[in-house]
Amino acid sequence: MRRLSLKLKLTLLYSFFMTLVTCAALAILFSLSNKEILASTQNTLKKQVQESLEDVEWEDGAFDLDSDFYDLDGGVYLSLYTESGNLLYGRIPYGFDLHPEFSDGELQTLSDSGRQWYVFDLSHQIPGYGLVYVRGISSVTEAESSFRITLRFAVIVLPLLVVLTAVTGYFFTKRTLRPVRQITETVQKIQTEHDLSRRVELGSGTDEIYQLAGTFDHLLEQIERAFQREQQFTSDVSHELRTPVTVILAQCDAALGDDSLSSEHRQQIELIEKKARNMAQMISQLLLLSRADQGRQQLQMEKLNLSELTEMVCEEQALLAEEKFISITTQIEPDLYAFADETFYIRMLSNLLSNAIYYGKEKGHILVSLIRQNGFITGSVEDDGIGISQDDLSHIWERFYRADASRSASGHSGLGLSMVKWIVEAHGGTITAESTLGKGSIFTFLIPEEN
Ligand code: ADP
Repeated sequence: MRRLSLKLKLTLLYSFFMTLVTCAALAILFSLSNKEILASTQNTLKKQVQESLEDVEWEDGAFDLDSDFYDLDGGVYLSLYTESGNLLYGRIPYGFDLHPEFSDGELQTLSDSGRQWYVFDLSHQIPGYGLVYVRGISSVTEAESSFRITLRFAVIVLPLLVVLTAVTGYFFTKRTLRPVRQITETVQKIQTEHDLSRRVELGSGTDEIYQLAGTFDHLLEQIERAFQREQQFTSDVSHELRTPVTVILAQCDAALGDDSLSSEHRQQIELIEKKARNMAQMISQLLLLSRADQGRQQLQMEKLNLSELTEMVCEEQALLAEEKFISITTQIEPDLYAFADETFYIRMLSNLLSNAIYYGKEKGHILVSLIRQNGFITGSVEDDGIGISQDDLSHIWERFYRADASRSASGHSGLGLSMVKWIVEAHGGTITAESTLGKGSIFTFLIPEEN
């Protein structure tokens, strides 16, 4: 039941109740047995005959009769007879050829040519004329068949009504719930496109769904503003920290240039310089990410030979790798071109490689490959290092996320992969990571090729 959509559930509910009502109606109709129908025919017949007595008047040597005698009210044929059985007035049903004896106040059931009739007579003393009989005749067969027609009609029409209610109910619910779909789509787009500026914008309406959409838009407004404040804060803090760090680095540089420095002081200043450099790197990454968030980070796109650029970055990083006796092997297809920002491409690849080295094992191997594949340039950096657990793998792209926070001393602040991801996506590409804990990792990026 939980898997069904709301519109289907509501339609089922309508249909269920309609079916219940229909079944009840049919049950009532069926339970009205023939006996009851016939009893009601008999009552009508008696009532009509009794009431018609009042309409028979004798005036100035002639009968003055009401038109009721010809009206066939309730399917009753009324006729007036003399005491000796001569028809004076009224109608006899077609097909009723019998002339039964009068039986005052008693109902007779007669058959004639395959049909059944009720006959009811009442005598009436007319002052100035004498005794007359009023006879009422009703067709039993007609009463039964009209009941059967009603029943047949109900059996066909009521289920049709259920189907009609179900269909109209479905479309009506679908229409009513359309705004809910709009809300869901907006949320999904916010999720996939990371665009907090989107709104449901249902327009003017007062029902509960419109109220929900309005509340939702208001909430999104607040979230967006909170995000903007946070981005502005990060940007401001990074800006403010840049100058003091630059000053610290410059001062360290100057101090280290002093030959009279004792080795102990030199070590201390070198440590300060190292930490300040890490800090400067972190600040520059933070600045880049906050500018990217605000959509202010510009890319200098140009047609670049990524094969050469990749080879160059690998050679640069090879020096770092040597410190851990790690070898870097390359498998690079020549002359692969893409529209890219040179500085950012280098930054992206350097980050991946420095991670591969940092999280690689001593005397390990790194394989960097770059190939052409279905209109994309596919690059990968593969290492045989410590690997990443499956739990951590889904978080590595988050800012400041480090699988092993105890390794923080080295300037790896957990911003590198966030930046890598942003750079690849800003180039219209995608990046994925696969890893096995203890065996190694492979980061694969795709960037559209430019011929
Ligand atoms: P950091 O600055 O800490 O390296 P990153 O954003 O570059 O931050 O990486 C996030 C986390 O992903 C790292 O802390 C590390 O746990 C994991 N990681 C990244 N690259 C690798 C790799 N090649 N091998 C193992 N773990 C890695």
